[in-house]
Amino acid sequence: MRVFKFGGASIKDADSIKNVANIVRQYQNEQLIIVISASGKTTNAMELVLTSFWDNQKSMVTEHLQKVKDNHMMIMDNLFQNREHSVYNDIHDTFVDLEWLLEDGPQDSFDYLYDQIVSVGELLSTKIVSAYFNLVGLTTTWLDVRDCILTDNTYRDANINWPATNKAIVEKVTPLLDRGLVITQGFLGGTSENHTTTLGREGSDFTAAIFSYCINAEDMSIWKDVPGVLTADPRLFENPSLIDRLSYAEAIEMTYYGAQVIHPKTIRPLQNKNIPLCVKSFINPEGTGTIIGEFDAVEYKPMIVVKKNQALLKIVSKDFFFVDEAKFSKLFAAISKHRIKVNMTQNTALAFSVCVNDSPDKINRLIDDLASDYNVDKIGDLKLITIRHGSNEVFERIYGERKIYLEEKIRSNIQLVMDKDEHL
Ligand code: ADP
Ligand code: ASP
Ligand code: MG
Repeated sequence: MRVFKFGGASIKDADSIKNVANIVRQYQNEQLIIVISASGKTTNAMELVLTSFWDNQKSMVTEHLQKVKDNHMMIMDNLFQNREHSVYNDIHDTFVDLEWLLEDGPQDSFDYLYDQIVSVGELLSTKIVSAYFNLVGLTTTWLDVRDCILTDNTYRDANINWPATNKAIVEKVTPLLDRGLVITQGFLGGTSENHTTTLGREGSDFTAAIFSYCINAEDMSIWKDVPGVLTADPRLFENPSLIDRLSYAEAIEMTYYGAQVIHPKTIRPLQNKNIPLCVKSFINPEGTGTIIGEFDAVEYKPMIVVKKNQALLKIVSKDFFFVDEAKFSKLFAAISKHRIKVNMTQNTALAFSVCVNDSPDKINRLIDDLASDYNVDKIGDLKLITIRHGSNEVFERIYGERKIYLEEKIRSNIQLVMDKDEHL
């Protein structure tokens, strides 16, 4: 059994979906689960539908939703050429269900509504791709992932109920695999009360890893618009090179610090069962790609990872007490209470500096909480650069004349916080 994941870019239009069908055709006799994201930038578009709905801007809801409809209609018209095909009804019904929900004003929490509304992107894409596969002779079953990936009700960042998910996947998916391919949605889950949840933006890689873990997949492949994992993001650096082999530990380090190519939660389930993860190109499917697995003693080239949207908090004790272990524990408890993501820390006797994901609301609440004992200075608009396996030459190039707000060097790994506009 194998698991494939195709992201938004790989199914952004009809030609892309045809390309995916050609890739999958080579594997049609294998037992294959295919996890699919929303098409192109549909998730962003659905977020606009949600925020307009939340703000009670009815005409904007209609306008944003119409764009999503038009886009999917265009894809279908190019794939099916015949509006009698049952997929048109299926997609129509999906929009009708959504419109029912949008009929009344926003009556639930923002995060709950987010999951009910934004999840539609993956329902649409999987219905279309699955119908197209069947049309071109790839026998495929559409599976509702909300019956398999069972979660708590932490909307927008749901936690997996692993025992229940494992049981559901084994019971529901195994029989389907004998009938042909199985297509399901990435990013979504379901609660025990049958409400839809989501696993966090870019979460479809994680969905594929959950399936891989539960069915003990032979391997998992994620198909991307890049040849594999590269030494840097090609959108930010010229000519990065392909990394052929990557250990699980190295992959976790890279993705945790912002290498967008794989969602950071993806690696652990695979590592736990020693399932190899292949990162391959849907543009050049014959390419070797990157294999992530249990490798040690791999010689790595320098890798650069950029994490955007960072803020630096300098937290200084008001009463001239040391920032000692007891204070650390209180500070971290406060940071954790507000669900602020810490990426780098440093301390002196009186000050604690921490580089965090910049979520202004959460940070303001933290600053209020700490106000009685600490002065907190915030600098926003920063980015965190992580260089792994760097040489002095690479370090010097990145340092240049730049203003560095915080830095840390551990052997050949270095982390630097700098202005977001510094051109590297
Ligand atoms: P998906 O379509 O599966 O959602 P993403 O767009 O999230 O795929 O991820 C692929 C993108 O990740 C690439 O287009 C590339 O710009 C970016 N990326 C960031 N860091 C790296 C890296 N180290 N290697 C390859 N791609 C990277
Ligand atoms: N469609 C979701 C997103 O854009 C999940 C994913 O693509 O991984 O975040
Ligand atoms: Mg993505």
